Amino acid sequence: MPHYICTGGCKGVSDTPGVCQTEGCSLEGHTLEECNCIDGEHWGAFDEVDVEEEEGR
Ligand SMILES: [Zn+2]
Ligand SMILES: [Zn+2]
Repeated sequence: MPHYICTGGCKGVSDTPGVCQTEGCSLEGHTLEECNCIDGEHWGAFDEVDVEEEEGR
């Protein structure tokens, strides 16, 4: 079953087409990518995202 994911770093998943609504996500307001994976891993889409965590100081 197709679903829609955000690869902007928020790892958002939606059952319906739309845009990322996660505040602060690098792809906020961008269209979610369609995904048809069957194992819930989204073909490793989230693993490829190089997210640099903000350094707290
Ligand atoms: Zn996002
Ligand atoms: Zn998927």
